[in-house]
Amino acid sequence: MGSKPGADDLSLRALLRLEPGAPVDLAAHPPDAMPGFEGGKQRGIDETAALGKELATLQERLYAASSAGDRRRVLLVLQGMDTSGKGGTVKHVVGHFNPAGCRIRAFKTPTPEERGHHFLWRVGNVLPGAGEIGIFDRSHYEDVLVVRVHGLVPRSVWSRRFDEINAWERALADDGVAFVKVFLHIGFEEQRRRLLARLDRPHKHWKFSPSDIAERELWPGYQRAYAEALTRCSTEAAPWYLVPANRKWYRNWAVSRLLFEQLRELDPQYPAGDFDVARSRARLLAE
Ligand code: AMP
Ligand code: MG
Repeated sequence: MGSKPGADDLSLRALLRLEPGAPVDLAAHPPDAMPGFEGGKQRGIDETAALGKELATLQERLYAASSAGDRRRVLLVLQGMDTSGKGGTVKHVVGHFNPAGCRIRAFKTPTPEERGHHFLWRVGNVLPGAGEIGIFDRSHYEDVLVVRVHGLVPRSVWSRRFDEINAWERALADDGVAFVKVFLHIGFEEQRRRLLARLDRPHKHWKFSPSDIAERELWPGYQRAYAEALTRCSTEAAPWYLVPANRKWYRNWAVSRLLFEQLRELDPQYPAGDFDVARSRARLLAE
């Protein structure tokens, strides 16, 4: 199977998509697998670089099309446990795009103002505009994940949110938002290695907090919460993709490829100029 950027025999979206309605069992997905990829690390890095160029062109076409009224936009949603590589994906994949057409947002513990609103309010405020690519590093899904695991709201509240999320995403999809929801799936041992690596390097200490260890102790609860969120909220309108994320280069390749396939399907077109090219040229050349 080929896996070059333009290869049409590969649909990574079909391979990684969590089928709507099918129960998700995270233990059945090895986090060091490489679905859809053949070859080694260097090849993965080279292909990701090649995909980056294609992504930049497709993004420009999406942006250009919006100037002629095409309201379509893309929203990449990144979720995953601590150290799963959400930030690394923003750096290595989203870094290929023109930042002028991107809206990147990381969601932290809600502010008092955010807490005063419905949980979808803060995400609704920072959606990509027509022609833009939005990137969410964490998202509204935290409101059925950390909130559930820590018992921040009662079950009666969070359990309603799956349907609310589906209805909200569906309405946005109908309005031209192409969702690419990616769960970065890392293993328990790999997380230990990555947290230890942060401790080993003083310049990584800013990324570490002893509370990360307390969160890690809640791993089984998080896996249960993720499994239910992925099961309930992988829909035709906005499917979830499970990306095995133990290998950073595979993760970067896979997310690049998912975005590439999504943008290629949208197939945005440069709009034709609505002016007389010959006349404009003649005017510029006159005197
Ligand atoms: P980090 O991604 O390491 O910068 O951490 C962000 C923190 O914000 C994580 O501990 C999340 O669990 C937390 N967080 C994000 N969204 C929410 C939310 N809706 N409710 C509570 N905590 C949240
Ligand atoms: Mg953190």
